[in-house]
Amino acid sequence: MPSPRIDLYSDTQTRPTKGMREAMANAEVGDEQRGEDPSTNRLCEMTAEMLGKEAAVFMPSGTMCNQIAILVQCNPGDDIIADKTAHIINSEGGGPAVFAGTMIRPVDGVRGIFEPDQAEAAIRKARRHAPRSRMIAIEQTANSGGGTVWPLEQIRAVGDVAQKHGLVMHMDGARLPNAVVAAGVSARDFAEPFDSLWIDLSKGLGCPVGAVLAGSADFIEQAWQWKQRMGGAMRQSGVIAAAGIYALKNNVERLAEDHANAKFFAESVANLPGIKVETDGIDSNMVFFDVSETGMTAAQVHERLLEHGVRIGENNHMRMRVVTHLDVTREQITEAAEALRSVVMEASRAA
Ligand SMILES: *Cc1c(COP(=O)(O)O)cnc(C)c1O
Repeated sequence: MPSPRIDLYSDTQTRPTKGMREAMANAEVGDEQRGEDPSTNRLCEMTAEMLGKEAAVFMPSGTMCNQIAILVQCNPGDDIIADKTAHIINSEGGGPAVFAGTMIRPVDGVRGIFEPDQAEAAIRKARRHAPRSRMIAIEQTANSGGGTVWPLEQIRAVGDVAQKHGLVMHMDGARLPNAVVAAGVSARDFAEPFDSLWIDLSKGLGCPVGAVLAGSADFIEQAWQWKQRMGGAMRQSGVIAAAGIYALKNNVERLAEDHANAKFFAESVANLPGIKVETDGIDSNMVFFDVSETGMTAAQVHERLLEHGVRIGENNHMRMRVVTHLDVTREQITEAAEALRSVVMEASRAA
């Protein structure tokens, strides 16, 4: 199958643009693991500054940021409190159990977002029988929650709970820049209640690879040791760090276009027979919809859309996810909505 013409599978499908590639080609480089790569150092400084933290470290991926943040801050047998839809629970191969040996206590939030009371209820009383509650982890935006944005006040209230009980706060900020643009709240304000957090460069920001983890100088020093241990330390990483610097300068504000495109797609398909769009909470660049009443499964809709050159991911048996990004235009969104219309209409005629 040739690659789809219009790829709404994920914002990971972005390709580095000409401007980004030029920045990469011209990057000043050195040995990253000796702290001698000027472009990587610059990217880390920019990110730490943006997030209001003392220090930052460049990582190959967001998954490694989550795993290392957990390794540094949790001991084996500790509990992490996270929403049931969290990436660390569902999409990291059981990493927290494998590496840090932690438990995760899932919270039943709404669209990936839970209440401070729920966090507090999930914290265990210190007793010999129970795991130690150690970390509250939130995802901004909440991916499987619907690309939903955690409101700043709610983050602060959860942070107060963590502080009261002596737990650390961790943000999986894979799409924090989307939340910043959607909510009009600075990254620094969102970051303030967190001991550790990171942003992904390879999602909506359009870089080929990389993520940046931030926190206190002491936290980053320990994170560096884990990065070295796990084989994440690099050499002339300036070539890819330059893409990150370029993205932070050029690709943040434009995320508003992706958000407008997501809303536009949702409106375009909302009335199609059998398609149920999860309309409350199209906060950012994702649209989830249910196909159960089309008479087709998500896998079947996925296949038929591919025949139209459009790829939309199956989130589960009946739920599909559209993600808008840098490499899809408004025209292509219109075309994708039209393709879904044809697929659904064909099915309802056949029924
Ligand atoms: C993509 C993603 C990750 C992992 O990032 P990678 O760079 O793919 O390893 C973690 N959390 C969320 C919410 C994500 O969407």
